[in-house]
Amino acid sequence: MKLLSAIVPCFNEQDNIFDFYDELMKNEGFFKGQDVDLEVIFVDDGSRDETVSRVKELIQKDERVHLVSFSRNFGKEAAMYAGLQHAKGDYVAVMDCDLQDPPALLPQMYKAIAEEGYDSVATRRVNRKGEPPIRSFFARKFYKIINKMSKAEIVDGARDYRLMTRQFVDAILSMEEYNRFSKGIFGWVGFKNKWIEFENIERKKGETKWSFWKLFVYALDGILAFSTAPLAIASLIGVLFCILAFIFIIVVIVRQWTVGDPNNLVGWASMVCIILFASGIQLFCLGIVGQYLSKAYLEVKRRPLYIVKEEL
Ligand code: UDP
Ligand code: MG
Repeated sequence: MKLLSAIVPCFNEQDNIFDFYDELMKNEGFFKGQDVDLEVIFVDDGSRDETVSRVKELIQKDERVHLVSFSRNFGKEAAMYAGLQHAKGDYVAVMDCDLQDPPALLPQMYKAIAEEGYDSVATRRVNRKGEPPIRSFFARKFYKIINKMSKAEIVDGARDYRLMTRQFVDAILSMEEYNRFSKGIFGWVGFKNKWIEFENIERKKGETKWSFWKLFVYALDGILAFSTAPLAIASLIGVLFCILAFIFIIVVIVRQWTVGDPNNLVGWASMVCIILFASGIQLFCLGIVGQYLSKAYLEVKRRPLYIVKEEL
């Protein structure tokens, strides 16, 4: 008998816990037939609503349900990592609690691993139906930019919904970095991966935890975690400005020697503009360096990714 662990990060999902459980267990029959047991690990990411007590209700009824509860909100990345650490399954699935990652896809994903020999099956939504257009626009731009900058393949529309083999999970767990960007990590570890596409499903109950600002910061974190291209760009801008300055110096000297400068005072406005522009670029590049430094700073502290308050 093999075991499939479903990892479900939950942050204030009281209205979705039961629905999710029911939906997931609709697959029970299929997996029985495949000689696979199911286990569900709800990772409570510091919820302030009834999420924990509802999961406990489920645990009373079904011993295959487990709970890992954080001492505060550590973010979905930490919740996923905790889930992967606690999962005992030969196969491990990561899925959202809000049913935007349809559990009905699991049999199809399982078959790809068990019969077609894939190491992981990932999902991507083919459209962004129901999402604010401005968000879709920036999301698309982000994927364009990060794929230009980074070697790890980061797929547009990819969800974190994924079924993995034990070997794949162990590879993910071996990446202990503090600044986690799963979309990149999944691609970085390699292995044979299959993509399954599905239409975007809108969240049934509760609210999304992602504001535009949070997504923007997440996007920046992704770029910083999987690319050093901004540093190279900063150096390049520096070189460019040196060349420009050099050309200007020659122009000024030559002009002084040939026609001279009858009116030394002319040009102070352009001078101010140049100084402002150049110092702006300098601060910008310094900021880029600072971003990497701050990430490295958090990384060397080796703080735990999460703190567990309760485990059932
Ligand atoms: N989530 C979490 N911690 C957070 C934010 C979200 O564990 O700080 C969980 C949330 O409960 C859900 C999943 O991550 O199960 C995806 O969140 P959400 O549906 O808000 O994101 P979206 O689907 O809008 O991208
Ligand atoms: Mg969602």
